[in-house]
Amino acid sequence: MTERKMATIRRIDNIGPIEGADAIEVATVGGWKVVVKKGEFTAGDLAVYCEVDSFIPTAIAPFLTKPGQSPKQFEGVEGERLRTVKLRGQLSQGLLMPLNTVFDNMPIEQRLIAGADLLIEGTDVSEDLGIVKYEAPIPAQLAGEVKGMFPGFIPKTDQERIQNLTAELAEWQKNNYTFEVTEKLDGSSMTVYLRDGEFGVCSRNLDLKRNEDNSLWKAALKNDLEAKLTTNKRNLALQGELIGEGIQGNKYKLRGQMFYIFDIYDIDRGAYLTPTARKMFVETYKLNHVPVFKTAASLEGLTVEQLLKGAEGKSVMGDITGPEQEGLVYKCNEAEVSFKCISNRFLLKNGD
Ligand code: AMP
Ligand code: MN
Repeated sequence: MTERKMATIRRIDNIGPIEGADAIEVATVGGWKVVVKKGEFTAGDLAVYCEVDSFIPTAIAPFLTKPGQSPKQFEGVEGERLRTVKLRGQLSQGLLMPLNTVFDNMPIEQRLIAGADLLIEGTDVSEDLGIVKYEAPIPAQLAGEVKGMFPGFIPKTDQERIQNLTAELAEWQKNNYTFEVTEKLDGSSMTVYLRDGEFGVCSRNLDLKRNEDNSLWKAALKNDLEAKLTTNKRNLALQGELIGEGIQGNKYKLRGQMFYIFDIYDIDRGAYLTPTARKMFVETYKLNHVPVFKTAASLEGLTVEQLLKGAEGKSVMGDITGPEQEGLVYKCNEAEVSFKCISNRFLLKNGD
């Protein structure tokens, strides 16, 4: 998976009214809905679309800071983070800006070179605009000491949002693909591997030095993962989510921390185990698997909006009063394709 493109050139698919609102309207961009000022855009226009979680420098969008407040700081830059909001009852995610925003924020020499690219849908303009993904600070016990970069022989854990996959969705429906549907847990990504006798524990982006104070290493040791991988005699990587105390507000109210597996990667074959083989492994070694809701769901006739609605609900990880589910992850049984549907109810509740 490539890094997430925070700001891209997109075509506006549609502009529609918002009931009871005169000054604003709603734009559709792929699977996203964004509230805009009335009359600022027309359906068919190209514009800069920035996804939620973008950190937008004040220099290009000063209007994002509420009057009387000062901008936030992230990595030494003043700006604001884009969150999911509701305006006059209309869900709004991200920010649309006119194309000239990019030009206006570029040095003159660069404008000539970049000019043509800006008319191409999909062009990533994050760097041109100084837009980065906002990341919450990592608590010390999760961060750990670095052994190296994330190993090149294992894919990083990541999922694209369904809102960016409208064309692909149509293709998958045409192919009658089926999907495994699991609950998306809101914790910290963790990968544990054994490769030619070398055992490692990694966070989302880094290979971590062995250290019993680090939460990820602690979980790996508690679950006896080195011994389990060694008896299995294959070069495998176990990938999952670490949830519990000290992680993302411990939404599931666990005591201590637990590792829930969602993927197993066969390093020598360069491929993921099938869901069936993965679940067998998890059972054999008495590990935890993320909740599975469906093993072969069809996407026939479903829209992005319906898929997103379907991701809303209570997590099965807690009791009835329990936490909102973060979302669902869909993994295809017939091709190496997967995506996430994040619950908008979850985003609104958590201020993300
Ligand atoms: P995000 O948390 O929005 O960056 O989405 C991608 C991440 O979801 C992955 O890197 C995983 O750490 C995490 N994740 C949580 N639950 C699952 C699941 N059931 N399947 C796949 N990834 C998951
Ligand atoms: Mn996450």
